[in-house]
Amino acid sequence: MFKRQSLVHVALCIAACGAITAAQTIRLTWISDTHLDPRYNATDGTSTCAEHDVRPPFGRPDCDSPPALLNSVVDDLLSQPGHRFMVFAGDWSRHDVTTSSQQLTFEAFRDTAVAFQRVVETHGQRGTIIHALPHPRASYDRFTTAVGNDDFVLDYNSSVNASVPNVFLANYTRVLSALNMLMPSELETFSTCGFYSRTLETGPGLPGLSLVMLNTVMYSLGCVKADGLTPCVSGPDPCGQLAFLAATLSDARSVNASVLIVGHIPPSSSFYSAATHPHRWGTTTFGYWRDIYQGAFVSILQKALLNGTQIVAQVFSHQHHGLFTGVAGLPLFVGLGSISPIFDNLPSYQEIQLQTRAAEGDLPARWLIGDVALRRLTNLAAAGINGTQPDWETASFRGTFPEANGFNDLTSDVVALIGNRLLSRRGNMSNALFWYNADPANLNVTTVPCSLMNPTNACQRLFGCFFTTGIVPSNFTQCLQQ
Ligand SMILES: [Zn+2]
Repeated sequence: MFKRQSLVHVALCIAACGAITAAQTIRLTWISDTHLDPRYNATDGTSTCAEHDVRPPFGRPDCDSPPALLNSVVDDLLSQPGHRFMVFAGDWSRHDVTTSSQQLTFEAFRDTAVAFQRVVETHGQRGTIIHALPHPRASYDRFTTAVGNDDFVLDYNSSVNASVPNVFLANYTRVLSALNMLMPSELETFSTCGFYSRTLETGPGLPGLSLVMLNTVMYSLGCVKADGLTPCVSGPDPCGQLAFLAATLSDARSVNASVLIVGHIPPSSSFYSAATHPHRWGTTTFGYWRDIYQGAFVSILQKALLNGTQIVAQVFSHQHHGLFTGVAGLPLFVGLGSISPIFDNLPSYQEIQLQTRAAEGDLPARWLIGDVALRRLTNLAAAGINGTQPDWETASFRGTFPEANGFNDLTSDVVALIGNRLLSRRGNMSNALFWYNADPANLNVTTVPCSLMNPTNACQRLFGCFFTTGIVPSNFTQCLQQ
């Protein structure tokens, strides 16, 4: 019966709807945590690198990005031909800004926005097939951003309120809007609360793509008022952002658009906290968000998936390390690495190929993640010295997870399968660590259980648990305990 129906469907499509065509693709750049430090080279103690006498021109661990690193990222983006839509996941500005030096945050944001605008505009103007979309109208057809905790001063203090403009968000709105990187319809919610959504016209007959850019700093445990205690937002749905998310997901389903959810502070467990507190495994819940918002967010996603909304992935940053989580009933979670090398990672960003998948059974046509590649700077310490050029190279997801060979898409199921292999000690740890640090040689990271070149069982458990349960902090705690 089922077979017969699907044959009839295929026959109808060949005859009438022309659905049997090659998969279409959109190329996305997922980039985050540039943390530009305009004072990197300053010798008056105001640099994030003030503790270090040796400051390589393109940056070093423990320090935020010098302007030369940002320029190098831009050069690398410009050197690669092809379509691109840039998705930035927050933390434009450097660490350790105080209220008396808050102009540094504005400066870092503006300089980075101007640099990115050069990428999207240059790609738009070249004669070749460069546009991210078939008919780009402005830079906002090639760029979106979320806000991060370091984009507020003090750090994490996202005291937002729909009826009062936030001084930081209002400033960023002016910058992005002058550069044509925000649409007029996005100005109000972005300038007050730091969120918006955008639906891309992907082309005739193709599923649309909706990007929901969330301010998740407000949900984080670190978001407190100046007294250091009072949560900086209150009520079950500050700024109405959760209601906005639910409505956007429902709208997307009704116009057959696939959705990409993007924010900065992840709704996941903190891999770093778990790694540095192994004695608390099984007793501590290492979450980033306040429980009330975590619960509401998860139930919105579950409901949307049950209702048939196609969610490509939820993409967050903040940890500065590449991580994945695949939990049944929730969209794939991707944690992005960072440009700033401050936490021992090499500067990196991700190049993603979204590809169409034709309608099958109850499922409508949709976008899925195909190729995932990591673009990384391999010679951070040497670059810029004695004429050495910065060396950017590509590593692919499938290349670094050979166990995953044969999978065409990066989905929740695939990540869970890799995680389960790690838990049963059949997985390849060096691959997981590679993705985490963007650097196969630098396994001696600050993650305590993983601090050996020959990773311990504890390290495998940590990665295995994160890949299979990381997005549900209570399950992650249970997994670590076993
Ligand atoms: Zn960051």
